[in-house]
Amino acid sequence: MTAHRLLLVEDEPSLARTVSDRLVAEGYDVEIAANGPSGERMATEGDFDLVLLDISLPRKNGFDVCRDLRRKGVATPILMLTARNELVDRVLGLKLGADDYLAKPFETLELLARIEALLRRSQAGTAASGAAADTARGYRFGDVRVDFDRAQVWRTGEDGAEAEIACSALEYRLLRFLIENRGQVHDRDRLLDQVWGYDATPTTRTVDVHVSSLRQKVEPNPGRPEFIVTVHGLGYRFDG
Ligand code: CA
Repeated sequence: MTAHRLLLVEDEPSLARTVSDRLVAEGYDVEIAANGPSGERMATEGDFDLVLLDISLPRKNGFDVCRDLRRKGVATPILMLTARNELVDRVLGLKLGADDYLAKPFETLELLARIEALLRRSQAGTAASGAAADTARGYRFGDVRVDFDRAQVWRTGEDGAEAEIACSALEYRLLRFLIENRGQVHDRDRLLDQVWGYDATPTTRTVDVHVSSLRQKVEPNPGRPEFIVTVHGLGYRFDG
């Protein structure tokens, strides 16, 4: 069994080192980020099992990092760490998508117990959500929800209300294929085979056109796609 990978986002070097040393001694792989933006980037790009997230961080606080990770569809469990032990922090952290909360100063044993509990829960959750995803027949990423039963795509607006996004049948099939095969890179020929269903009679440019129109509909910023990403020289991949 490979070691669990933990990301520790903590700007206090001595505390980061103490906690990290202890976690490594317990058999975890630990990486450290010393400010909000680098923690967010590492949590987004790295394959971590858990994020330990301080709240008071330089450049971007832990609440904002947590909220933006969840908005991007990063589902890695987050344990928030804070010097402030107020109920409002706890409630806000959990509301923004954190999974648990630990007030500083904490006992190492308490931290280890929380980490183990979260990892157990997330492993059970992954197994369960795999089954649930099949029965629920839908998928969420960012503020978009795809309903596989009805072949509909919905987006939650600023006001919290959902509105349907009009997609063509091809756009919908392309989106669904990308979601069902998320994390994999698909070249244009494969997408033509799988989504269009015939062997590349249209040019591969057709794929680019449809990807572009789909991005306009589901990406928060179509000019800088977060979900339907281009893998240069290879094709496209769904990250969400
Ligand atoms: Ca701090």
